[in-house]
Parts: sequence; structure tokens; C-alpha cells
Amino acid sequence: AAKDDSRGSVYEFEPEFAYNAKAKYLLEQDLMSALDKNEFVLYYQVQQNLSTGSVAGYEALMRWQHPTKGLVSPADFIPLAEETGLIVQMGRWALKQAARDFGGKDNNTRVAVNVSPVQFRESNLIEDIQQALAEYDLAPEQLEIEITEDVLIEDNSNTLNILEGIRELGVGLSLDDFGAGYSSLGYLTRYPFSKLKIDRYFIDQMIRDERSQSLVKSILSLASNMGMKVTAEGVETPEQLDLLIKSNCDEVQGYLLGRPEPFSKINR
Ligand code: C2E
Ligand code: MG
Ligand code: MG
Ligand code: MG
Repeated sequence: AAKDDSRGSVYEFEPEFAYNAKAKYLLEQDLMSALDKNEFVLYYQVQQNLSTGSVAGYEALMRWQHPTKGLVSPADFIPLAEETGLIVQMGRWALKQAARDFGGKDNNTRVAVNVSPVQFRESNLIEDIQQALAEYDLAPEQLEIEITEDVLIEDNSNTLNILEGIRELGVGLSLDDFGAGYSSLGYLTRYPFSKLKIDRYFIDQMIRDERSQSLVKSILSLASNMGMKVTAEGVETPEQLDLLIKSNCDEVQGYLLGRPEPFSKINR
């Protein structure tokens, strides 16, 4: 390690940095070949309608079926996929795969697909959606696009145009992880969301903390007054479910109702 304190700057060889750079490079190569070799899979998690008690739809959640590492979770590869731009192709693939799984005459089940801010910015999302719907005979009402508020940070007319374009197709638009970030309420007036997904943090807090419970109830009435549906994320206990039923929440999703599963395992 070389240090030059006299100039106040430090030149140090940091093995950890070198390792990270190398590991990153290897992971990037691995991600590219994973796309080629079709190693990504969609798992589906059920969303239950609380007024009918039946299946409302499924959320598509990407996994990487790695030849040696096994099933890799999105937290371990989506950040780098976003950094390198590979998420654009991966997201396009997810959209198609979900449409392939849920399309066709005999299937009316709804499916929700997550879209990254990078994919949102760098691809023609409307065209990709139209293509997926047409190619696999998926009705627009069967599809929901989930975005987080990160997409809205770049608050320009293009963002609004794309979001309105999605709604004009008849496709649903959900604001994911609502409440987890800065969650400007202005977003709700400016953008045409059809649904809010309350972040699981609040669903977790709700049963312990009265203020969180009040907040969840307020989000429910806010959404209802604005003509939006609400899905509670991360429902893990019967107490949480009970409280959400009593509060007239529209839909619930979480390990209590079902874990994400391969398409072949879900009962539609
Ligand atoms: P998300 O869209 O908010 O998805 C919900 C996450 O919560 C999923 O994690 C799901 O497995 C997990 N979850 C569901 N119920 C429970 C519960 O009761 N308790 C707990 N502790 N967790 C629960 P997962 O599958 O690991 O995905 C993590 C994130 O990765 C997703 O968060 C989403 O942001 C991203 N992601 C997943 N698939 C895709 C994709 O195809 N495209 C993009 N751009 N992002 C994706
Ligand atoms: Mg159909
Ligand atoms: Mg989501
Ligand atoms: Mg979420």
C-alpha cells in the first residue's frame, strides 16, 4: 500500500475493491450467458381478493436457476442487472414469459409484472407490452405493471406519457412498496395508478403500533376516495389478515396466503 499523507491524498491498493470489481465483472458475464441459456424463471405469488375470498391474480417474481449456485433471488442479481442495463432484456423476457404463461382463450387470471426504472427509461415499454399481449393472447385487463416511486423521480412529461399509455391500453398500474420511500402524495394526483401496494413494513408494524394501524386505514380510505384498489404486501399472520379484512382492504399477498411458486405448481 502506498500512502502519501503529505498531499492529503491516499493511494492505497484495496484488495477488497479489486475483488469486488472482479466479482462484479464475473457476475455480469454470468448474467449475460444466463439470458442466452434461458436460466431465468418466473415464480408466481398469489394475491387474494378479500371480498370474494378467491384468487385475484399472481405477481411474477424473477429467479435465476443457476447451474451451480441453485435458485438465486432477485436481490442478488437485479441491482447489477440495472447497473449494466441488462435488466432491459431481462424485463422484456419477464413480460413475455408472464404473457405466455397466462395468455390464451381459456385463461382469465391476472398477472402482475415488475418493471425496473432502468427498463422504464431505456426501452419502449408500451410497444413491448402491446407485443406481449398480442403475441400470447393476453387480455389487457389480465396484466398489471408494478413500478416503484424510483420511476417517478425523473418527473418529466415522458414519464407521464408512458404511464398514461399503459392505462390507455387497459393495463393496470400499481405503485409498489407504497410508503417505503419518500412517497410524495402528489404522485397520486399526477399519475394514473389503479392500485397501491402497501409496503410490508407497515403491515408488520400495524398489529403492534396504533399509529401504523391508523396509517394503513388512512391509506385505504385515501385510495378508495381516489378510485384506487389496495393490496397489502407481506401478510404473514392471521392477526394481520384479520385486521385487513376488518379495514376493508381489497387484496392481500404474503407468505400466509402462499409463497412464490413455479408456474407448474400454482392452481389456477
Ligand atoms: P416486490 O416487487 O416488492 O416483491 C415482493 C417481495 O416480497 C418478493 O421478494 C416476495 O417473495 C416477498 N414476499 C412476499 N410475501 C412475503 C412475506 O409474507 N414476507 C416476506 N418477508 N416477504 C414476502 P423477491 O421475490 O425476493 O423479490 C424482491 C424484489 O425484486 C421485488 O420486490 C422486486 O422489486 C424485484 N423483482 C422481482 N422480480 C422482478 C422482475 O421480474 N423485474 C424487476 N424489475 N424486479 C423484480
Ligand atoms: Mg384470455
Ligand atoms: Mg412487486
Ligand atoms: Mg413490493
